Amino acid sequence: MRLDGKVALITGSTSGIGLGIARALAGAGAAVMLNGFADPAAVAALEGEFREKYKVKVAYSGADVSKPEAVREMIAEAEKTFGRLDVLVNNAGIQHVAPVEEFPPEKWDAILAINLSAAFHAIRAALPGMKSRQWGRIINIASAHGLVASPYKAAYVAAKHGLVGLTKVVAIEAAPFGVTVNAICPGWVLTPLVEKQLEDRAKQKGTTVEQEKIALLAETQPMHRFTSPEQIGALSLFLCSEEAATITGAPLSIDGGWVAH
Ligand code: NAD
Repeated sequence: MRLDGKVALITGSTSGIGLGIARALAGAGAAVMLNGFADPAAVAALEGEFREKYKVKVAYSGADVSKPEAVREMIAEAEKTFGRLDVLVNNAGIQHVAPVEEFPPEKWDAILAINLSAAFHAIRAALPGMKSRQWGRIINIASAHGLVASPYKAAYVAAKHGLVGLTKVVAIEAAPFGVTVNAICPGWVLTPLVEKQLEDRAKQKGTTVEQEKIALLAETQPMHRFTSPEQIGALSLFLCSEEAATITGAPLSIDGGWVAH
């Protein structure tokens, strides 16, 4: 499965799942625009990896996706740099865990802005080009928390449910134009976002991170193993294929059985 000649933009691709997706798409020959926070040396190292290992064109945008204007500029920059944008992966996301009555309103606003509104602004800017070329793939990285809830994650669960809803609406609107829109709903993936939660849990309970890894998986996933960023990259790549041309509007679980029970 090749994506030669195609251009992909993956938000939040300096780390974790987004980086796994960017590697999978570049490995198939797509030019990529990376995005996310990282120091200049780390960005240069990543760009070098993509050029040398995958032999693709690569660019980087440091856009803060919590800012609508920055999102619009990032999409315009991708289109200007590469002449087109075929695959948009809305992946950037943050988490905050607290009981709802103690949930800081500024954390609520930030999570809604980054995990939900950024996808709206990016889709709004990228869809016209995809429609005009009659081909496009939009992949929203939601979560098992886009389908079911856990306590203390009011903003995250609300944003991810919203992202699944947005996915369905845009899928219907884009359907006549050869553009598919899907949501990937991962369970636990061992990335910095989850490592922080494990460290907090270990601190609170006086346990170790290793003990909390086992406890976390046992709480929600019948399959007691983490999904890897590479596995999510592979699913994203499949969604870009011709074989997946009629998969649209779907929340796709990759969660060790989490939402099955
Ligand atoms: P991560 O912390 O490893 O990566 C997050 C990325 O988003 C980083 O590149 C970071 O720089 C970027 N980012 C954060 N705020 C940003 C902003 N304002 N503007 C631009 N970039 C920003 O986290 P991850 O686990 O790889 O998470 C990626 C996505 O996957 C998130 O949407 C998350 O909700 C989702 N997800 C993660 C898990 C999991 O278990 N790790 C499970 C389900 C869904």
